[in-house]
Amino acid sequence: MRVFLLSLAVAALAAVTVAVATLAAGSALAGNALRLEGHYTQGGLVYGWTEPGARVTLDGTAVPVSPGGRFLFGFGRDAGPTALLEIAHPGGITDRQTLTIEPRVYGVQEIEGLPPSTVTPDPALQERIAAENARVAAARQPQAAVEYWAGGFAWPVEGPISGVYGTGRILNGEPRQPHYGVDVAAPEGTAVAAPAAGIVTLAETGMVLTGGTIVIDHGQGLSSTLMHLSAVLVPAGRFVEQGTIVGKVGATGRATGPHLDWRMNWRDARLDPALLVPPMPADALASDQPATGD
Ligand SMILES: [Zn+2]
Repeated sequence: MRVFLLSLAVAALAAVTVAVATLAAGSALAGNALRLEGHYTQGGLVYGWTEPGARVTLDGTAVPVSPGGRFLFGFGRDAGPTALLEIAHPGGITDRQTLTIEPRVYGVQEIEGLPPSTVTPDPALQERIAAENARVAAARQPQAAVEYWAGGFAWPVEGPISGVYGTGRILNGEPRQPHYGVDVAAPEGTAVAAPAAGIVTLAETGMVLTGGTIVIDHGQGLSSTLMHLSAVLVPAGRFVEQGTIVGKVGATGRATGPHLDWRMNWRDARLDPALLVPPMPADALASDQPATGD
């Protein structure tokens, strides 16, 4: 049996989630099988199923495969135009698939009124920011081999979307790194839920740019980062279920007001969280919460 399915980015997001949940319940595929499902786009995540014992690489880098034959991989903001997926089956056959990654067009957002020290930090602050970035990067490295992500994803907080993935940034008039997360504006103190199950690998307050910050390892290299929290309610090392309240919305770090910045990584590739959840409910989008961000 040989199954090969490429689902393009136009697929409804909810449909992808349902398909994953359904397939997740099934057993591993047998005999040189390969099934792929997800978003073949910059910032997209692709779920894969193959038979146990297969070895998977993406552009030559090993992709962890669970004992049941499941794996996933993602594409960064500027990934493409293609990626090479290789599946070495236990029987000796190797599948090679050249995946085409749809490019995206990113806007540019200008934000004024940020604390100048966080936009143009002095050398001492730059050093501190670099050290903090290194700690966050370490927390995003694959640690759990378990597929905690298999239960799917939900918005950690609901509200108007005040910043989207990939946007170029001009902060206080200065060009800066693109925006890699999705910003959801919500009142200070609103409960923030874990978007999917996982192990908390970082739980800090007072980070220069991101303030109260939590990293959750969803397994197989997939992680969420929740930023600008006014309260961090779980310690590093704790397992959380999807929906566990892990913190509270705040405006800590570099922010123009209370909002949640939700980022997702597959290893070092930054993904678009909005591709993994249903659309934000209309009543949440219509809230008159000020559109604060960064
Ligand atoms: Zn943001």
